[in-house]
Amino acid sequence: MRQRIAVVGGGPGGLAFARVLHRHDYPVAVFERDPALDARPPGGTLDLHEGLGQLALDKAGLLADFQALSRPEGQAMRILDTDGTVLRDWRPRPDDRANPEIDRRQLRDLLLGPLDVQWGRGVTQVVPGTRDGVLVQFADGRQEAFDLVVGADGAWSRVRPAVSSATPHYTGVTFVETSLDDVDTRHPDLARLIGDGSLGVYGMNRTLVAQRNSGGHVKVYAQFRAPLDWHTNLDLADAEAVRSSLLALFDGWAAGVLDLLRRGTAFVHRPLYVLPVSHTWTHTPGVTLLGDAAHLMPPLGAGANLAMLEGAELAESIAAGAEDLDEVVRAFEEQMWARAGRWATITAAGLERLVSPDPAEALALFDQVQPS
Ligand SMILES: Cc1cc2nc3c(=O)[nH]c(=O)nc-3n(C[C@H](O)[C@H](O)[C@H](O)COP(=O)(O)OP(=O)(O)OC[C@H]3O[C@@H](n4cnc5c(N)ncnc54)[C@H](O)[C@@H]3O)c2cc1C
Repeated sequence: MRQRIAVVGGGPGGLAFARVLHRHDYPVAVFERDPALDARPPGGTLDLHEGLGQLALDKAGLLADFQALSRPEGQAMRILDTDGTVLRDWRPRPDDRANPEIDRRQLRDLLLGPLDVQWGRGVTQVVPGTRDGVLVQFADGRQEAFDLVVGADGAWSRVRPAVSSATPHYTGVTFVETSLDDVDTRHPDLARLIGDGSLGVYGMNRTLVAQRNSGGHVKVYAQFRAPLDWHTNLDLADAEAVRSSLLALFDGWAAGVLDLLRRGTAFVHRPLYVLPVSHTWTHTPGVTLLGDAAHLMPPLGAGANLAMLEGAELAESIAAGAEDLDEVVRAFEEQMWARAGRWATITAAGLERLVSPDPAEALALFDQVQPS
C-alpha cells in the first residue's frame, strides 16, 4: 500500500530521499522554502565519500553521472604554516575515487533531475497524531496531511520540534567565507598557492582554508575562535570593514596567504552551530528527521554525505514495501543515530584540533587521516 509521504527541505538529504523513492515509482511531496531553484548561492564544493555520499548516489542510479561531473584531482590537499612554508603537499593517485569533489549546484541538479519540487513552500510547524495523520502547516497559511513527514530542513529545522526539544548551540568557532573568481586567469599566484584542491594554513586559534570549485571559482574560509558577538562593532554588510577586521585578526601571516582575504569579494558570516553529539529522540509515529536537522555537526566533510545516505536508505526501505511503515522508520532511526553519533564525535574532536591553540594539532590530524 502506498503511504502519503512528504519531505521538508530540498538539500542533499531531502533530494536523495525523494530521488530514490522516485526511482522506485513511489510518490513523494517535496516542500522547499526557497522561492525558486537559484534563489540563493548554493555554497561551496562537497567531497562525497565512497561508502557514504557515493553509495547514496548509487542507490539513486546516479553514480556514473557523478563520476563524470566530479573532480578527483580536487582531493589534493596542501598545508602551510603561517609563514607560507609548505608542510604537506598531498596529491591523489590518478585513479583515486575515494572522495572526489563536486560543486553543490551540480550535485543539486543531478539529484533534482525529474523531481517536482514545490518551491516557496516554507513549513512552519508539523503536528503529529491528528485524525488525518501528520499535519504540515505552511508559512502561506495552507496545511496538508501525510502518513510520514521527513524533516530534511537543515540546522534550524521546523520539523524537529515535533520530535525533539534540542536546539543547536554555538561551537565557539566562526567561519567568514569569501570567494575568488577565475582564479587561474585573474589570480595566477593564488591559483599556484592553492593547487588543484584545498589549501589549509593553520595558526593559533586561526585557520585559513581555500577550496577550488569548478570553473576557477575558489571559496576561502577564515576560521577563528571568538565569542558569538565578536562583530558587535562591525557592519557585516560592509565588505571593506570585514576585510580589515579579518586582516587584523590574521596579522603577521605571510603576505601571499593574506592575499586570499585581500582579493576576496563579498564576505559571508557563518558561526558554526552543532546539535548535541548523539542527539536522539523518543520515536514519534509519522515524523522523522535526517541530515543536519537530526545531527548538525562541524563541517568536516561528513554532513552532506550522511544526509544523502540516510535519505537514500530510508527511501529504499520504504520502497521495499514493508507492511509496517512505522517499523521501517524505527529501524532507520536506530541505524542513523548510531552512525551519526560516531561522526559527530569525530568531527567535534576534529574541529578542536583544526582551530586550536596548537597549530601542530592540525598537522597531526592530517597525518592521521591522510598518511602519505
Ligand atoms: C562551509 C561548509 C562546508 C561544508 N563542507 C562539506 C563537505 O565537504 N562534505 C560534506 O559532507 N558536508 C559538508 N558540509 C555540511 C553540509 O553542507 C551539510 O551537512 C548538508 O548540506 C546537510 O544537508 P541537509 O539536506 O541535511 O540540509 P541542508 O543542506 O541545510 O538543506 C536543507 C534544505 O531545507 C530547506 N528548508 C529549511 N527550512 C525549511 C522550512 N521551514 N520549510 C521548507 N524548507 C526548508 C533549506 O532551504 C534547504 O534547501 C559543509 C558545511 C559548511 C557550512
